[in-house]
Amino acid sequence: MQDLGKSMRDLLNRQNLNSDYQRLIANAINDPDVQAFIKAHQDELAEDVLERNGSKLYEYVSQRDKLRAGHQVFAPGYEPKLVVSDHYVEVTYEPTEDTLLAQKQSMLKKRVHAVSMPKMIEQASFGDYNVDGEEEQRAKALRQAMQFVADYSQKPHEFHQGLYFYGNFGVGKTFLLGAIANELATLGYQSTLVHFPSFAVEMKNSIGKNNVAEKVDAIKQAPILMIDDIGADSMSSWVRDEVLGVVLEYRMQEELPTFFSSNFSMQQLSDQHLSINQRGEKEEVKAARLMQRIRFLSHEVVIQGPNRRPQ
Ligand code: ADP
Ligand code: MG
Repeated sequence: MQDLGKSMRDLLNRQNLNSDYQRLIANAINDPDVQAFIKAHQDELAEDVLERNGSKLYEYVSQRDKLRAGHQVFAPGYEPKLVVSDHYVEVTYEPTEDTLLAQKQSMLKKRVHAVSMPKMIEQASFGDYNVDGEEEQRAKALRQAMQFVADYSQKPHEFHQGLYFYGNFGVGKTFLLGAIANELATLGYQSTLVHFPSFAVEMKNSIGKNNVAEKVDAIKQAPILMIDDIGADSMSSWVRDEVLGVVLEYRMQEELPTFFSSNFSMQQLSDQHLSINQRGEKEEVKAARLMQRIRFLSHEVVIQGPNRRPQ
């Protein structure tokens, strides 16, 4: 195409501008985006492109304007684009930025399996994990969390010890687990977060329904598992041995990364929660075996600081 202005003038002169249709096409040809496109591609386009592709240009302009005005469009979530195909113009439909963002977010969400977890974890990120000046421990916890993600993403098939976050209620242990899971999701890795006290109740309620093993299997095989709030409720011997014990034994054998959060240090968890059954009897051997698995799978990290829960 040599002289764009001339061929457009010729075309418009030849067209019968009284017809509504022709006028719409003429408007489309005069549209600044269309003109810019034709100008940018004039070397690739055939001489008679405006005559042959008037309706394509009209389709482009009308769909673009409908989308801008927020009206129903032919392909919702997609925007029209002009492309050159074999010396003529074609209209293609590509996902809008909003659609791409929504698609990305739903992919990320699918990589984080949350079982009875607070919704807040969906928004948790390393960037929002605030570490104030004096809170060295929090900074250290964040560094270890980031280190895990870096190590894991470098060698996902090797064993990586998870972290055992402990500290008072509201310091942000669950938030940090969520942030790790979300960060792993952006790198393409799946994790499962389980609020352990709720899961334990669910398991107890499932006894006799024949699906305990199935639910325990789903948890134990998660590529990355985060057991939230272990020790928050007193644990029956059955939950300790048949649920937690089974899950941790499998993960230790398979060397699968496992995280924990607790209001208690490992020592406190061992002495106060795992060693005493509901009848108040000591069960130290079983507790010791469980603790050995927890220690193998994770590294203890204290988190202190103010309660960040909205009061
Ligand atoms: P924990 O699990 O230690 O009891 P949570 O993770 O539930 O504490 O955090 C308590 C509240 O504080 C949540 O509403 C969470 O969104 C918020 N929060 C926790 N840590 C942070 C942080 N570092 N930055 C911003 N908000 C936080
Ligand atoms: Mg918590």
